[in-house]
Amino acid sequence: RIAARLLLLAGLAALALAAGCDSDDPKPERLPPPPRPITERGLVEHLAALERIAVAEGGERAAGTPGYTASVQYATGVLRGAGWRVRVQEVPMALWRERSLATLTVGASTLEPIRDFRVPGYSAAGRVDGPLRAADDGCQAADFEGLSPGNVAFTGFGNCFLWRKTVNARRAGATALAVQTSTSGRGVAFATLAVARLGLPVVMMRKDVAARDGDRVQLTVNAVTTAGTTRNVIAEIGPASGPVAMAGGHLDSVPAGPGINDNGSGVATLLEVARTFGPRPPGRVRLGFWAGEEEGLVGSRRYVRELSEDERRTIATYLNLDMVGSPNAVPAIYSDGERALGRLLRKLYPGPEREVLTGNRSDHSAFERVGVPVNGLYTGATEPGPGGRPRDPCYHLPCDTLAHVDRDVLLRMARTTARALAELARRQAK
Ligand SMILES: [Zn+2]
Repeated sequence: RIAARLLLLAGLAALALAAGCDSDDPKPERLPPPPRPITERGLVEHLAALERIAVAEGGERAAGTPGYTASVQYATGVLRGAGWRVRVQEVPMALWRERSLATLTVGASTLEPIRDFRVPGYSAAGRVDGPLRAADDGCQAADFEGLSPGNVAFTGFGNCFLWRKTVNARRAGATALAVQTSTSGRGVAFATLAVARLGLPVVMMRKDVAARDGDRVQLTVNAVTTAGTTRNVIAEIGPASGPVAMAGGHLDSVPAGPGINDNGSGVATLLEVARTFGPRPPGRVRLGFWAGEEEGLVGSRRYVRELSEDERRTIATYLNLDMVGSPNAVPAIYSDGERALGRLLRKLYPGPEREVLTGNRSDHSAFERVGVPVNGLYTGATEPGPGGRPRDPCYHLPCDTLAHVDRDVLLRMARTTARALAELARRQAK
C-alpha cells in the first residue's frame, strides 16, 4: 500500500450482513469451503520465510534489491511445489536508492533521520541551503505564490499525491520541498513520489518538529535513480482457457523495513491459497505477485498494460490483498470495489467487518481501469483503530515484523480469500 495520499475512510457503516457467519447463512451449501483448510501454521511459515529473507538482506525486500530476488525465488518455489504453472515477468522500473542517510537542519535543530524525517522514494539528490517558506498543503500551484526562488517550500500533508506538490514546488522555483507528516511515534513512514526524476529533493518531516517560516534549512539528500528491471510472478491452475478468477498482492516491501504485514500478509494468503488449491483446483484461478507496488504500483500496471483486449476480458474478477494482518486491525472490504464481489466477500467473512474507500492506493487500480470487476480485503495502516491507536503502528517502518502481525485476523482474511476464489472459480466453470 502506498501512502502518497491520505486514505479516505468510509463511514463506519456496519453492514446488515455483518453478523452472518456460516451457520446463519440460509444456503450454506452454496458456499463450499476450500479443498483443504488454510492454517495459521501455513501462513506463519511464509511470513517467517519472508522475514528471514529481509534479515539476511539488509532489512528489506524492496524491488531491485537482493531481498526482492529472494522473495521471488521463495514464492515461485512454493507455487511450483503446489503444482501451479508459474511465469516470471520482467518489469522495467526506475530503481531508487539512498546511498547514505540524508541530513536535515531546521533553524537551530539538527533532526534525526527516520525518527524526525525521511526522504521519500524518487526524491532527487541535492545539497540545499535556504529559508523555509510555508505553502499551505501544496496541492495547488497558487499555494506557492509567496515563494521566492531559492526557498525551501514547506507544506502540510494534504490530500493529493506527493508528485503533484513536488511539481508545483519546482515550478515555483523552490530548491527543495519539506512535507509535514504524522507518525505513530516509531518514526516517519516511507512514502513515495510515485514518479521518478522530478528533479527536486523532497523530505517528509514529523509534524511536531518546530519549523517556522523563514527558518534556515540545510538539507543533503544522497540518492540515485537508475533504469533497471524487477519481476512479477504470475501463477495459474485449472483449465488453460476460459474465464479466470484472479487474486493478487504485492511481493515487494518498502526500502524502510521487512514488509511482513505490508505485504507479507497478502503474499502468505496467496501462497496458502495456492497450496490448498494445488491438488484439486476449483476451476481456472490465477495469482499475481506484483513488483514495485511501493514505488508506485509499477508491477501490476505493467502486467495489465501487456495484456491484450481478449486477455483482459477473460479476467472475470480480481481480488486484491494488501495488508491483511494489521496488529490493531479493522478488517475491511473495499467499499469502492465491485458490489457483487463485495457482497460475496461480506457473506464469506466470519464476523463483522467494515468498508474502506481505497481509491487507487494499491494494485487493484490497474485492473479496475480496464474494466475488470475488482474488490479486496484490508485491515488498516495508519488510520486510527481500536483504542484510537493506529491500525498498524509499524506501517512502512523497520518494525513491520512477524511479531506485530495479528495471526487470527490474517487467518480469517486468508480463509475468506480462499472461499471467495473457490466460489468464483466454481461459478465461472459452469
Ligand atoms: Zn505499503
